[in-house]
Amino acid sequence: MSGIERPAPPSPLSPSARLLLGPGPSDVHPRVLAALGLPLLGHMDPEFIALMDETQNLLRYVFQTENRLTLAVSGTGSAGMEAVVVNLIEPGDSMLVCVNGVFGSRMVDVAERAGAKVTVIERPYGEVFDPEEVRAAVKRVGPKVVGIVHAETSTGAWQPVEEIARIAHEAGAFIAIDAVTSLGGVPVKIDEWGIDAVYSGTQKCLSCPPGLSPVSFSPRAAELIANRKTKVQSWYLDMSMIQKYWGSDRVYHHTAPISMNFAFREALALVVEEGLEARHARHALNANALKAGLAAMGIGLVTVAGHQLPQLTCAQIPDGIDDMAVRRRLLNDWGIEVGGGLGSLKGKAWRIGLMGHNSRQANVTLLLAALETCLR
Ligand code: PLP
Repeated sequence: MSGIERPAPPSPLSPSARLLLGPGPSDVHPRVLAALGLPLLGHMDPEFIALMDETQNLLRYVFQTENRLTLAVSGTGSAGMEAVVVNLIEPGDSMLVCVNGVFGSRMVDVAERAGAKVTVIERPYGEVFDPEEVRAAVKRVGPKVVGIVHAETSTGAWQPVEEIARIAHEAGAFIAIDAVTSLGGVPVKIDEWGIDAVYSGTQKCLSCPPGLSPVSFSPRAAELIANRKTKVQSWYLDMSMIQKYWGSDRVYHHTAPISMNFAFREALALVVEEGLEARHARHALNANALKAGLAAMGIGLVTVAGHQLPQLTCAQIPDGIDDMAVRRRLLNDWGIEVGGGLGSLKGKAWRIGLMGHNSRQANVTLLLAALETCLR
């Protein structure tokens, strides 16, 4: 017999029921799941194009921006990170990246691969940057772009970015932020804060599956991209071409992931129905309940007080407790997923997400009860 032997056909797909209370993906709202099952449209069908326009408008509300160049990149949050970096950076450009966790480090890697001369400033995991230390670095380096993570998922740190954006602008630099975990959970005000480029993900506080990365570029950033001397290093993520597909030209670039765009449209519709303020207040309320419950169990947090994200709580694993044993029991006995520590927090922290649709009182109570049992 020649060729690859036919394997036994697998049984029908039937994933176990889970409650996704980790750092993402979070559980998807039933309406978003239903959207994934709708029949496809062609990606150049006028109906699909109308859906792209509608999605763009919903996304502008969620990003709080009037930026024309606002769209969903095909790919996960890391694709958005690459899209922002490779479009703003030309080989030899200087970029200052603020690193206080794993995703800041990823931005450094992406920028170096794009040919940037990268300067890094660092804070320990769990801390945030003081605008004055960013000011000093900007003065020293004179970067073209300053990159910073708004919600550092590896530590639960909530970085204020408004003042840092002002500092970047005063020095003539562009400011790019990672809003993968912040969007839909805490305020992200692109125009009011003067952010030049932002990327996010669908699978955190927007409660959509992973697969698209919402991005937005200010008019100044869009002009920079239009006047580049060199081609964008990535064909797939070149905004000058993608914007012709999302804009009035409708020039084919790549086949949009139709079902993901259906799901994303529905996820954004749910945010609009709830309203951003109500959504942020819900995240804050449930996070406070979770933190109070953890404190009552003697569990402290990794993240400094005053900068703890409501959608992602980074809890210190108590001394003598086996990280994996607890997480295995949570998963096997309760069907609950929480995240382990990343980088230097491996084995030392649990990352508990109450993101989007999952930020509910019932989930807080269930998790605390389950954790209490697993720690006995
Ligand atoms: N940035 C942050 C802050 C993240 O939390 C993540 C993913 O967890 C990413 C970037 C990368 O996104 P993705 O895993 O969707 O590619």
